[in-house]
Formats: sequence, C-alpha cells, structure tokens
Amino acid sequence: MTTDTSPRSWVPRHDLVRLATHLFGIGLALTLVLGVASEGSASLETAGGIANAVGRITSLIGTYGLLVMVVLVARLQFVERVIGQDVLTRWHRWIAPYVLVLLWVHTVGNTLGYAQAEEEGLVHEFWKLLTSTPGMLTATVGLVLLTVAALSSYHWAKRHIKYETWWAVHLYTYLGIGLSFSHQLSSGSAFVEEPIARGFWVALWLLTVGVVAWFRLFLPIFRSSFHALTVESVRTEHADVVSIALRGRRLDLLPIRGGQFLQWRFLRRGMWAQAHPYSISAMPTRSSMRVTVKRLGDHSDELFGLEPGTRVFIEGPYGTFTHHRMRTNRVLLIGAGVGVTPIRALLEDLPAGCDVLVVLRAASHDDLVLAEEIVGYTEHHGGRALLLVGPRSEVPMDADALRELAPDVAERDVFLCGPDGFMRSVASSLQDVGVPRERIHYEAFTF
Ligand SMILES: Cc1cc2nc3c(=O)[nH]c(=O)nc-3n(C[C@H](O)[C@H](O)[C@H](O)COP(=O)(O)OP(=O)(O)OC[C@H]3O[C@@H](n4cnc5c(N)ncnc54)[C@H](O)[C@@H]3O)c2cc1C
Repeated sequence: MTTDTSPRSWVPRHDLVRLATHLFGIGLALTLVLGVASEGSASLETAGGIANAVGRITSLIGTYGLLVMVVLVARLQFVERVIGQDVLTRWHRWIAPYVLVLLWVHTVGNTLGYAQAEEEGLVHEFWKLLTSTPGMLTATVGLVLLTVAALSSYHWAKRHIKYETWWAVHLYTYLGIGLSFSHQLSSGSAFVEEPIARGFWVALWLLTVGVVAWFRLFLPIFRSSFHALTVESVRTEHADVVSIALRGRRLDLLPIRGGQFLQWRFLRRGMWAQAHPYSISAMPTRSSMRVTVKRLGDHSDELFGLEPGTRVFIEGPYGTFTHHRMRTNRVLLIGAGVGVTPIRALLEDLPAGCDVLVVLRAASHDDLVLAEEIVGYTEHHGGRALLLVGPRSEVPMDADALRELAPDVAERDVFLCGPDGFMRSVASSLQDVGVPRERIHYEAFTF
C-alpha cells in the first residue's frame, strides 16, 4: 500500500481519543471528590442533612454527565474519525436518562432537605426556593427544557414528530443547560467558599463552551467561507435520485476521505435552516465535489429543484467509513440503493494494491445508481464488480450466496452501506461465513 501525502490525508488519532478518555475519567473523579469533600459529617446529622447531601452530589454528577453529553455531540473531528458520529450519538442517547434522573433527584432531594430543615411542606418549600433563591427559576426552566428534549427522543415520540421539530427542541437544551449554570455557583455549597472548586467548575464549563463553539460554529463557518461552495448543476440519475455537482475553492484541502459525509445546508429560502447529512459520491478535485441524493422527505425532495449558484454551508467531514479501517488489503464493498454513494467515493480513495471486489444490489436496473462509474473504478483497481439485480426471493444475499460470490470472503474487510434491514441481514450472513465482526464496516443512513 502507498502512503498518501495529499493535503487531505489524515490518520485516525487513537492516542488523542485515549487522552480524551483519561481526561473524562479524571474530570469525573475530581467531581466526585468535590462532592464528597463538601459534605461534613456534622451537616449530615442536621435536619434534612442526608436529603441535601444526596441532592448536592447528584447535582454535581448529573451536571458533569450533561456536559459530557454535550461534548459527545460537539462534533470533535479527531474523536469522530475514530469512533464515528453514529456511535457517539448512541452514547449521548444512552447517558441521557441517567443524567436526567440524577438532576431530578437533585431537585427533589434538595427541596426535601430544605423542607425538613425548615419544617415546611414540600410544595411550599419548592415554591419558596423558586421565587426567592437567585437562579432557581431559570435552573428549573432549564431542567424542564432538558426533560422535554429527552422525551422527544424516545422512539414513539420521534416517530410522531418531524426531524426538524425534534432538532429545534434539542437546540433549546443549550439554553436549558446555560440557565442552570448560575444557580450552581451561587447556591452550590461546594463552590460558595471554595475558590479551587469554583475554578475547576468554571474551567469545565468554559472548556465545554469552547469545544462547542470551535467545532460546531467556528470551524464550519471558516471552512464554508474559505471553500465558498456553490451548486454547479443538478443531474437526474433516476426518477428519485439526483447528483448535485458543487464548485468551490481549493476543495483538495478539505480533509475528507472517500466514504465520509458532511452536513449540508443549502442557503436558499425554506432550506437554509436545516442541515442534512449526505456522503460525498466522488472525491473532491481542486474545484469540484459531488453528492448523490435519494428523494425521501421534504429536504431531499427540494434538492431536485436547486438552482445553480445556490450557496452551500458545510459542517464536517465526519465518519469512519474509510479505508483506515481496513485490516487486510482485500476488500469487499457492498452497496444497495443510494447506499452506493459512500461506496463509490471509498472505491476511488482505496490505496493502490488492494484486491477489490464490489457487489451492487438493486431491485431493478433503473435502481443501479452510479454503476458505470463504480465498474470503471473497480477495473482501475484490477478488481471485479458484480451487479445483482432482482427481487430478494430470486437474488438472495445469504451465506451461501456470499460464499459463491466471494469464496475468500472470510479473509476480506467488508464495507457495507444500504437500507438498515439489508445491512442487518447481510452483516449476519457475513458473520455466518466467518467474517470477524471487526472486519465488517457499516455506514448507516439513519442515526
Ligand atoms: C451518515 C449519513 C450519510 C448519508 N448519506 C446519504 C447520501 O449520500 N445520500 C442520500 O440520499 N441520503 C443519505 N443519508 C440520508 C439522508 O440524510 C436522509 O435521507 C435525509 O436527511 C432525509 O431528509 P428529508 O427531509 O428528505 O426526509 P425526512 O422525511 O425529513 O427524514 C427521513 C428520515 O431521515 C432522517 N433524517 C432527516 N433529517 C436528518 C438529519 N438532518 N440528520 C440525520 N438524519 C436525518 C431521519 O431518520 C428521518 O426519519 C445519509 C444519512 C446519514 C446519517
């Protein structure tokens, strides 16, 4: 294999990700120490002491978890290249209920603690805290916003609300988190008279805000301004699929690899407020790049009517579906439907000397998008491209079929992209024929 020295070349930085993991552990340990150290045994014996201690410790751990959740989806490029946005989003979702429970236990715990200390009723005490303690009202509003965002992420809710509504609700979580900050410093006993603890906590918040501002605002604004992307043309590939050619400045400097995606925001009336992920379907040249999109809902539908000259804002690149994941120099690339887009760019970007086998799966010949280009690049690598067309019952992709298509399949790295159900069933067949899990690489088009 050759060493790539092009400006866009990068390698996954496992060392930086390990460092980030250690920092996360150290931060958690310091937070716990902070929480425990601020609880004196005498205060535990006073009325409401235990409830207050539980409230304070859950507040610290819950807030720490909340900041970690924000960082997980802050699009840190070096982390995304190793772990992948889909996995980071899953972790973010996995932590969320624990964080919320901790923050609610904090709210109830401290209210109960104060109520016991002052011999008041719970509801009366809550109202008193809300109306007389600085920052408490905003913090409560913040917690409600976080709870609404979490509820909107449950499967049943996500099925019933539009993606854009869900996204807008999530934007409010930043407000929710910000609203809770001031009451922590003004009322948190761990911080009031402890400058070191206060410094640590402020630094943690500043770091989180800095990471979000850098990766989610500054970098995308800088890249979009520098590369100055505009739509050059829209070509129909198929009744439901278009390729959008884009022009821009020095696109060869964009640190993107075949198989990766960007978040695309087309700056036109009715579209500028939404960013959608699309994989590149060809490697960028110095001045052009391309995406290929299937019509699915309102955003993808509007792409069919894009005017040349439309400005485009990008975030990214993201994704781990790249040749860096190869553990052998033999690959099997499997694409179905519009899932061929990252396969096409990955194929173009494979290192020289790879043994390449490509399988494209479609229900009909019309559905074979970009097939000619894919066959061309496969031949360029000296490989084989197989086009499997027909209904599933007649053209299965089970273990027997895979063995027949590629007798050496177990020795290959497999890159797989297509509808979720297709990927699940092919991945299971691949394991049946002996491909180890770590050599099966996916790109899912749904998070
Ligand atoms: C990593 C990745 C790469 C992708 N690459 C391609 C590609 O190269 N070509 C292609 O045709 N499609 C691709 N997709 C799918 C594409 O993003 C969705 O089809 C598109 O966003 C649907 O939007 P819509 O408004 O047309 O449809 P809607 O009906 O609004 O959405 C349909 C479904 O798409 C998902 N979706 C919608 N908006 C977003 C968003 N902003 N972010 C994440 N998911 C969203 C949701 O699961 C939603 O239920 C990719 C998706 C991902 C996650």
